[in-house]
Amino acid sequence: LVVLDNVNKHFGALHVLQDIDLTINRGEVVVVIGPSGSGKSTLCRTINRLETIDSGSITIDGKPLPQEGRELAKLRADVGMVFQSFNLFAHKTVLENVMLGQTKVRKTDKAAAEQKARALLDRVGVGTQADKYPAQLSGGQQQRVAIARALAMDPKVMLFDEPTSALDPEMINEVLDTMQQLARDGMTMVVVTHEMGFARSAANRVVFMADGRIIEEAEPNQFFNNPRSDRAKDFLSKIL
Ligand code: ATP
Ligand code: MG
Repeated sequence: LVVLDNVNKHFGALHVLQDIDLTINRGEVVVVIGPSGSGKSTLCRTINRLETIDSGSITIDGKPLPQEGRELAKLRADVGMVFQSFNLFAHKTVLENVMLGQTKVRKTDKAAAEQKARALLDRVGVGTQADKYPAQLSGGQQQRVAIARALAMDPKVMLFDEPTSALDPEMINEVLDTMQQLARDGMTMVVVTHEMGFARSAANRVVFMADGRIIEEAEPNQFFNNPRSDRAKDFLSKIL
């Protein structure tokens, strides 16, 4: 579904993505882990073109990423993204947040957008919060609204960049459970996370990055029980 072929990116002198080859198949959950600064967020951001690349190619369904205009807005809808900070519109209600992209980008009529938004809010467990403003919700609830908002666009793939890192511990599981459910429903997902329990139980594949490179790619049991590279062994010894 998503194919990165020999992707390179620099920030000035920093070679932040180096010869990245990665294929994400339909329905697959790929968890990306690695030390701080290894390029995980940048990798995610290139997939919906929040960052440009210097060389190589990225295709979705065999088509190169669009560069601008309406096609770019559609790409951002096709590739849902959930960040550490929830990025909801503060002056819009929860319901309006989930309706907005549908009416603006997908041109869904208002009634249909509202119906879908309510169904999605129910699905992620915040249906009763629809008429509140984001600030009136807990962090875990806000993050689930952000997930519902991305899902409202019927994305082909969902990117999660440390979706639980900003949450209080007691709220982490409600968000991970929502993601776990999404994975079971067959959503194609790329998840950057430090939650190794989630990686073990939800991932089809773990991608380990360091210094802008993919050092190791393996099925989770294999990766956690038997990492091949010294970098991965060292990383795991620090976090497990
Ligand atoms: P973390 O686990 O801390 O989130 P990460 O693996 O997500 O780290 P990135 O955010 O992708 O890492 O950053 C990779 C490197 O690129 C870092 O050294 C970072 O300082 C640098 N970097 C990221 N964004 C920019 C930018 N817009 N301009 C310049 N340098 C950047
Ligand atoms: Mg990051």
